[in-house]
Amino acid sequence: MTINTKRGRQFDSSMQFFISKGWIEVLRIELLKGDITDLDIDVIVNAANSKLAGGGGVDGAIHRAGGPAIMAECDTIRSERGYLATGDAVITTGGLLKARYVIHTVGPIYSERNHSENLKLTDCYTNSLKLAQSYGLESIAFPNISTGAYGFPPEDAAILTLESVSDFLNSNPNHKFERILFISFDSKNHSIYQDLIKKYF
Ligand code: ADP
Repeated sequence: MTINTKRGRQFDSSMQFFISKGWIEVLRIELLKGDITDLDIDVIVNAANSKLAGGGGVDGAIHRAGGPAIMAECDTIRSERGYLATGDAVITTGGLLKARYVIHTVGPIYSERNHSENLKLTDCYTNSLKLAQSYGLESIAFPNISTGAYGFPPEDAAILTLESVSDFLNSNPNHKFERILFISFDSKNHSIYQDLIKKYF
């Protein structure tokens, strides 16, 4: 299945799962390959750095597409609470994006020796979902946090990601999420998710 975006790009949406939440309500889990900044959704998640200072990768793409209003809110957050810890998540406007909000979370920098630091990747997902939930948001899209500049092996990251989201949903049966998207920018990550998803949902 392909989805046409407002800017004419096409997403290869090769997998969707519907999970019953009750009598009629369903949660749709989607795997997409494409650019997260094109999504028309309540909130997209940004793989930010602890300074919320802007960077390359998905962070750069979000700030470029969303305009200066996002960085203005990041500046305010930084001046109020200082640098973020790994796994923290904060929320700003979506600015010019179609997404109403952006959640900025700080992924771990992958370390072969520091397993407990690597495990903080799960906090990124759990804290982002908690924050989205506290804003009453129903649809959320995650990029493959930490798998770019932060060097996480993509398969390990995907396992931790899917496990965290699945655990969150199982321990919050009354959640209001209707759509959860995992969007990969590259084919390798996308196919890893396609291979793993059925183990978790
Ligand atoms: P990190 O520092 O957490 O590794 P990066 O932005 O370097 O963050 O990479 C995280 C993931 O986001 C990578 O898999 C990268 O390919 C992907 N990515 C980069 N740009 C985009 C985008 N516009 N939309 C979705 N994913 C993106």
